[in-house]
Amino acid sequence: MSAIEQSTPTRYPDVRNYIGGTFVDTEQRELLDVTDPTDGSVLSRVPLSGTAEVERAVEAAKKAQPTWAATPIKERVQVFYRYKALLEKNIHELGALVTAENGKVRGEAEAEVLKSAELCEFATSLPQIIPGEVLEVSRGVECRVERYPVGIVASITPFNFPNMVPNWTIPNAIALGNAMILKPSEQVPLSAGRIAELLREAGLPDGILNVVHGGQATVEAICDHPAIEAVSFVGSTHVAKIVFRRASANLKRALALGGAKNHLIVMPDAEPEMTSSNVVASMSGCAGQRCMAASVMMAVGATDHIVDRMAAIVSAMVPGTHIGPVISKAAKERIERYITEAEAAGAKVLVDGRGYVVPGKEGGYYVGPTLIDHVTPDMRIAQEEIFGPVMVIVRTKTVDEALDVQRRSPYGNAASVFTESGGVARHVMEKASAGMVGVNVGVPVPREPFGFGGWNESKFGVGDITGRGSIELWTKSKKMTTKWNKEAGVNWMS
Ligand code: NAD
Repeated sequence: MSAIEQSTPTRYPDVRNYIGGTFVDTEQRELLDVTDPTDGSVLSRVPLSGTAEVERAVEAAKKAQPTWAATPIKERVQVFYRYKALLEKNIHELGALVTAENGKVRGEAEAEVLKSAELCEFATSLPQIIPGEVLEVSRGVECRVERYPVGIVASITPFNFPNMVPNWTIPNAIALGNAMILKPSEQVPLSAGRIAELLREAGLPDGILNVVHGGQATVEAICDHPAIEAVSFVGSTHVAKIVFRRASANLKRALALGGAKNHLIVMPDAEPEMTSSNVVASMSGCAGQRCMAASVMMAVGATDHIVDRMAAIVSAMVPGTHIGPVISKAAKERIERYITEAEAAGAKVLVDGRGYVVPGKEGGYYVGPTLIDHVTPDMRIAQEEIFGPVMVIVRTKTVDEALDVQRRSPYGNAASVFTESGGVARHVMEKASAGMVGVNVGVPVPREPFGFGGWNESKFGVGDITGRGSIELWTKSKKMTTKWNKEAGVNWMS
């Protein structure tokens, strides 16, 4: 933490809140350093906003939201056609910003921005998706359902997708007529400012998106503010529970997505080339810092040939080139501790990513991709979220034994099976205790219009954060019953 007065030059200027269409200073005198995970240098500094800044953002949102809500949805979504084009036009700059603050390699960063653009496709199609229902329920009596915005909503986001996760919520919530307060992760606050600027350029009225930076105190102020009607959260399970409870206790709607521990079940008949490359891509992409990353491979029966191929692929990966660093020194140390503990408990480290140093980037938080075999389900590394490029392999004799391990996990984001058998695939899809399941897919993220959301301790609340599942979160329905035909007479509805 550094005082605002000590202004050592950084690569990016100090981060400022974005309220009512302009970047503003906070009352906060202390700023938190934002570090570049590739070398540990200080990139910028972010303010830790409090109640006063949240209040200011709410005031701006209050002023702007009624006019926005009264704008027909077909007009509102025009902003997101233009915003999508701006994301695509500026993809290199936006990708570079994601790489700077998060560390992921450029290809991954640009893929994230493209996904944000894809999310706009769903938002722009909302006028086609949300027309209400209408039915003549009695002679001459009609019922219809119309959707209205909730009002002022908040979105609290994690460090691992600085561009995409804010865009899970911004396009849908705003296209549906709400004003939003975005609270990005204080570890990656830079992308949010550019998102706000691009939305302004796309024609979003001032006050409809406000960005308030900070940490715990900012989130608490959001959860406690009476004018904020709905809170969405994406982050760890520990904090998801805190936010869900606090927002719900304050009588808001809440949807909180938490952490994950994702299992891939590999059957002996799985196609070896595709399976090994997909499994490795799933565990190592974004340095394993994805809530959909494979973390446990359940190797069923004779699968040594697949494990050997995986080890060869993993050994050829070069940190700094194919795989970025993890987010912080603390994260690197935590991940390495898990590996050491598993080794001490008897697991076999096939490829060891501990102590990796990228030449010229000695201060970077790199962990090389790591494969650990003969892990048992009772080990901590098989149960807890690691959030790093580490895959543990648990050997089982049958698919049901593998499913049993998956089903005992407290999490439930993703599960996948690699097999050539339709019967086995269907069995796993039905029995896995997870909200998103896959067959021969390493990262079974549903694409819109399907919604993103897990089960168990990976999600608290009803609905999904994207796709059709998010419409209920961001709107309230009104049921209207009308009778214009006097001849319809008197009936039980009169
Ligand atoms: P985190 O829970 O530490 O932080 C998320 C947000 O909560 C940040 O904006 C942070 O400022 C805020 N926060 C942190 N501590 C808080 C507290 N005590 N009270 C109130 N707010 C607090 O998560 P992270 O480390 O930024 O992100 C990684 C986690 O996010 C992983 O567990 C990962 O699985 C999860 N994640 C889940 C999904 C999903 O869709 N389920 C998607 C992405 C990431």
